[in-house]
Amino acid sequence: MRAAVFEALAGFARPASAYDVAEAVSQAEGRRIAANSVYRILDLFVAKNLARRVETANAYIANTHPDCRHDCIFLVCDICSQVTHIDDDAITIGVRDAAGGAGFVARRPVIEVRGLCAACAATQDAA
Ligand SMILES: [Zn+2]
Ligand SMILES: [Zn+2]
Repeated sequence: MRAAVFEALAGFARPASAYDVAEAVSQAEGRRIAANSVYRILDLFVAKNLARRVETANAYIANTHPDCRHDCIFLVCDICSQVTHIDDDAITIGVRDAAGGAGFVARRPVIEVRGLCAACAATQDAA
């Protein structure tokens, strides 16, 4: 079941919701899979760093660098929902330091930028 969920998640080009993944697994397995059980497995993947949650999109993506423990930055397109993953440790360490300076213990900084991807921005310009 976990393997099927991971395979389905990795098959999505965009962040997928638990419902999207449940749908894909249901089709692949030829039986109905509840979104609830998919949720549990996805959260387990997040805990094991195999997947990342895109908070503002309420969705998940397979982690492209599971061995790497840094904080990822996601650029989320408002039009096509495509997520671009960038890494800039100077920014994320700065956020952790700023939180620490306020006496806050940062566990998981969430840095997501909403906007338009290059392709959608080009379409907007043309319109
Ligand atoms: Zn990253
Ligand atoms: Zn886009």
